[in-house]
Amino acid sequence: MLHGGSGRLHPAGTPFLQQAAYNEALTQATEAGYAVLAQGGSSLAAVETSLRLLEDCPLFNAGRGAVFSHAGVNELDAALMDGATLRAGAVAGVRTVKNPISAARAVLERSPHVLLTGAGADEFAAATGLELALPPWFRTEERWQQFEALRRGQAPGAKFGTVGAVALDQAGHLAAGTSTGGMLNKKYGRVGDSPLIGAGTYANAVCAVSGTGHGEFFIRYTVAHDIAALMEYRGLSVQAAAELVIHQKVAPAGGLGGVIALDAQGNMAMPHSTEGLFWSYRSADGRAATNVCNMVIE
Ligand code: ASP
Repeated sequence: MLHGGSGRLHPAGTPFLQQAAYNEALTQATEAGYAVLAQGGSSLAAVETSLRLLEDCPLFNAGRGAVFSHAGVNELDAALMDGATLRAGAVAGVRTVKNPISAARAVLERSPHVLLTGAGADEFAAATGLELALPPWFRTEERWQQFEALRRGQAPGAKFGTVGAVALDQAGHLAAGTSTGGMLNKKYGRVGDSPLIGAGTYANAVCAVSGTGHGEFFIRYTVAHDIAALMEYRGLSVQAAAELVIHQKVAPAGGLGGVIALDAQGNMAMPHSTEGLFWSYRSADGRAATNVCNMVIE
């Protein structure tokens, strides 16, 4: 199951062709992740496979097409967590890694650490042989215009566009991952919730969660872990736990956003306090759907 960000997602505000492109990108990424699972691959590999495709797609605020920071560059954050072992890897503020989610996986599998930042994280990615990219790869004209408009004092659109994935494999193991360019015009090395384990990304034996929205709130309310804790300690269903945190905790405090959450039985939840949340899923019982601009395509 994937998300492609939350925000103001009215069909009227998004041209039909762009809606179709979102639908295609999300559906293809879901199918690619599902194919990994169908072939007996791990949930970790499925999440990475799906998110790499969305990072390469210029429509989303992750990898290519990420928003610009105050310095006019793309600074990327990503995290990946293995629910079976609680191993996790994350990078923040990377500028040269073509697929930050793969750098997160490399941190998880090939380092004794959980979170690497900035130039050090870029250096680690290069040393582990990951594919690198120059600034023009990440830059899209649309994002640059959005940045320029903001600098002229115009309010940016309210579509966030972070990407995330959760998966359950045939061994019953859950995994979660999130990748983002963070907040438009971010300054001073700002890091959001996406690469922070327990905030925007979390997986254990009970559930897997990936969030999107106003990161500062997701950090302060440890959103992803709080959902897992409500399920583990209070016995709430994934739906009840995710809704409680998004609608009764974070939204009343002023934090808008949403999550996708999946439990070990394959139950899904996708609550959001924004007008919309882009999501897409395929399950082993043959169900599949994609939601773009609040129009579900099954
Ligand atoms: N949560 C991300 C951040 O604050 C932004 C987003 O979800 O679009 O960095």
